Formats: sequence, structure tokens, C-alpha cells
Amino acid sequence: MSEHTITVAGVAVDTRHWIGDERVASPQTFEDVSPIDGDTIGHISRGTAMEAAAAVAAAKAAFPAWAATSRAQRARILHAIADGVEKRIEELAIVETTDNGALLRSHRRGVMPRVAHNFRFFADWLLQLEHEDFETRGHTNHVSWDPAGPCVLITPWNAPLMLATWKVAPALAAGDTVVLKPAEWSPLTASLLADIAAEAGLPAGVLNVVQGYGSEIGDALTSHPDVRRISFTGSVPTAKRIAESAAANLTPLSLELGGKSPLLVFADADLDLAVDLAVEQYDNAGQVCLAATRLLVEESVAGEFTRLFVEKASALRQGDPRDEATDIGPNIHPRQLEKIDGFVQRAVAAGARAVIGGHRGDGQYYAPTLLTDVDQDAEIVQEEVFGPVLTLQTFADEDEAVRLANGTRFALAATVATGDPERAERVTGQLVAGTVWVNCFFVRDLQAPFGGSRQSGVGREGGTWSFDFYCDLKNTVTAPNGWNNHG
Ligand code: NAD
Repeated sequence: MSEHTITVAGVAVDTRHWIGDERVASPQTFEDVSPIDGDTIGHISRGTAMEAAAAVAAAKAAFPAWAATSRAQRARILHAIADGVEKRIEELAIVETTDNGALLRSHRRGVMPRVAHNFRFFADWLLQLEHEDFETRGHTNHVSWDPAGPCVLITPWNAPLMLATWKVAPALAAGDTVVLKPAEWSPLTASLLADIAAEAGLPAGVLNVVQGYGSEIGDALTSHPDVRRISFTGSVPTAKRIAESAAANLTPLSLELGGKSPLLVFADADLDLAVDLAVEQYDNAGQVCLAATRLLVEESVAGEFTRLFVEKASALRQGDPRDEATDIGPNIHPRQLEKIDGFVQRAVAAGARAVIGGHRGDGQYYAPTLLTDVDQDAEIVQEEVFGPVLTLQTFADEDEAVRLANGTRFALAATVATGDPERAERVTGQLVAGTVWVNCFFVRDLQAPFGGSRQSGVGREGGTWSFDFYCDLKNTVTAPNGWNNHG
């Protein structure tokens, strides 16, 4: 084992970058700390412009050969990567939990199997992709999905491997090569993915992983003239920075950003279901982009809804995310905790009432919080907290519900709880959001479009939307009989 390998819950993880077919160490490192207990997990290579350039060069060099592989070859390797993920689900799950504090049981049973699925889905997509020729005045139009080139993929810490592989899988399927930069608060499973991909036979340079602070390595990646696509999931301020940097080369961007999604509860809803949906918003300690953090409840049932909500939320168990019985784990970092508490304390100072929570717990935990008496233009209603903090507002009628729901600069998702199908149709038709759920939450099919409107994002991921983003679509028009262009 190299001096750069650390052991995380019994799993060996290389702390260096993966560039070409080599592990590369930077002279400087950054400290990776577990949110569970604040212990140092290890010191990770801290990339700079130099490593960024090396990784893009490796991706560029590997591109022609990878782009020339057949779809069947690429699909075979993607399935082999999925096999590798499935073999290592336990290892990936415990490493990710140690690194970002999300529940081990979710990683084991939900997240890591979906990581494998991301690869299988795009492998199968590739094989069933149909080139449908069509005619224009006797001329044949032939559309092809040409590989675009090296892609830079930048991802956040709240669902590190899941979100990274939403991008890596379609990019590789499309015949592109990749430089992945995971978040500095959860860098470890990206390093394991590099191992798995190499073991699966992915050629050198097709997937590169660079580590480091976005502020130090980010610009060098996103302003690089050899990069053909940038796909980013993260916060709005970082997205704006990346968009400026990408503008130098007009590099196409896909942006999946923050949210402040509403849950609309109508008086005709199954109230138990609505309360379950509301309590579910504390999942991952509230660090979910899609979380419906604004509960909008029809006045006539608000009292009963709140009573049931408090009962159910109070039964949630907060604690060590490795424990099967835990419902809510820690928040990612002391800085994130500061940010969450800052939002809550400012809201309370402005007149909000904490029905539950409203304070820190031990260590890096924040008490699940519900704030009432908040105005639509309050900071706590308008800004993404990214912690276990919900607000509750009431509405008198459908029009007001829709106005409140649509009343932020975000538009990632919305959830509607109602027992009236006609109301559901009317209301969902008026909501501005990339995903709307009716009487359910978080159901996601990889072939559906996923993303946000307004400041929640640019573009969509999933199925054809992901795949097309990573391709240079080309239409070849051929004259009748192959020569006459005067048709
Ligand atoms: P962030 O924007 O701080 O960081 C995301 C990534 O960007 C990290 O890898 C970081 O190192 C990198 N980065 C930072 N500065 C950069 C720069 N100048 N150039 C290039 N890269 C840079 O976001 P975060 O705090 O890691 O994640 C939380 C945010 O992500 C929340 O806003 C959340 O809503 C959002 N998110 C969105 C989705 C979605 O699908 N819409 C999913 C998950 C998270």
C-alpha cells in the first residue's frame, strides 16, 4: 500500500488524483474530516491549475480512440463498471457515509445500487439508440450522435457518487472522455470509482479524477479551451462563476442548482400522507436539493397538520448515520452548521416561531426545525438553507397556494398533496418547476427529464436529455441517388 493510501472503515482509498493511468500526488493536501465525529479521515491531494491541465490533456489524448469504439464495446465496459460497483456496494456505502455523514442504510440499499444502475441504464440506452433517417424532397436526413470531446464534471457533497455518476455514465456512453472533480468535503468515493473503472477495462485517460478546492482548481478546468462540455451540480453562486469562466470558449453548460421547493397541502388531502411527505423532507439532514422545505398548508387544516407533523417529526431518531435505526445524521461541516444556524437565528429574530428545533444538537447535528410565522419575502422563505429546516405558511385558496409556491427565484421541484384529481391537474399546470410530484415524493426514473427552471438550473439530466448534451448532434443530408443536390 502506498503512503498515499488511507484506510477508511477497512477500505483502502487512494488520496491522489487519477490522471491517465497514473496516481498523481500534489505537493499540498487538504484535510478530509468526517462529519460523524469530526475526526480526520485523511489528507487528500490538493490540485491546482497544473493538475487540471494534466487531466484535460489526458482526456484529450484518450478521446479519439474512445470515440472510435463501437457502441457495443462501450456498453460492455459500462456494464463492467456497474458490476464493479455492485461488488463493492458495502465498501462504497461505508466510505461515503464516513465521508459525508449520510445514512449507511440509504447508501447500502438505495444510493449505491442506483449508482450501478446509472451505468447499466446508459449502456442499454446506447444499444437501443435508433438513427431514424427521414426524407426532405427526396433527400435523406441522417442524424448522428457524435462524441463531443473531453468533459469536465463538477459535483457537490450531498450525494457524491450518485450525482457524479449521473454525469460520468452518459458522458462515457456518448464516447466522451471525462475529468471529474468531486467536492472537497466528500472526495473519497470518486477515487474508488477510478479504481473500479480501471478494473473494468476503461482505457487510460477516459476517466480522470482530480481533487481539490473549487476555488483553486475550478477555473483552470472550466476555462480550458480543450473542454467541450461542462456539467455542474452545486450552488447558484458557483454556477455563475463557472458560466463566466466557460464563456471564454462558449463551452456548453449543464447546471443543476439549488432549490426552495414547496409542498402544497390542500384540505382535501390524505393528511397522514401529507404529513409523511413533509417529515420526509428532513432526509439526509435536509441536504437535498429537491427538498420541499416550504410547507404550504390550507388554513382550515393547518392546526391538525401541525399537530400530526410535530408528533411524527418528534419520533425521528437523530444520531450516528452508521446505525440502522438512525433517521437523521449530522450535517456535513462546521461551516454548513454555522450557515444553517445563522438562517434560523435571523428568522427567529425577525419574528419566526420555532415549533420544533431551532437550535444545534451535539457535535455536527442540527435539531430538525419547523418555523412558522414567516412572511413570503423573508430570507428563510426565499433562500436555500440546505439543512433540516422547514417553514410553514398557510393559504386560503388555490390561487394563493400557487402564488406562494411560485414565489421564489428557484424552481427545481414541487409536491402537491390533494385528494382531488382535477385540482391536481389545475395546480400542477400552473407550477413552475422541473419536477412536480402529486401525492408522492422523490420518485425518479432515469429516463425522465430532471433539472430546474429559473435559478435552479440550465438544461435537464436523464435519458435523452443527458445523452444528447454529451453529443455533437449532426444531421447529414444526402441528395437523391447520392449526387443530385438540386432537388
Ligand atoms: P458548491 O457550489 O459550493 O460546490 C459544488 C462543487 O463546485 C464542488 O466540487 C466545489 O469544489 C466546486 N467549485 C467551487 N468553486 C468552484 C469554481 N470556482 N469553479 C469550479 N468548481 C468550483 O455546492 P455544494 O455546497 O457542494 O453543494 C450544495 C449545493 O448543490 C446546493 O445549492 C444544492 O441545492 C445543490 N445541489 C443541486 C442538485 C441538483 O440536482 N439540482 C443536486 C445536489 C445539490
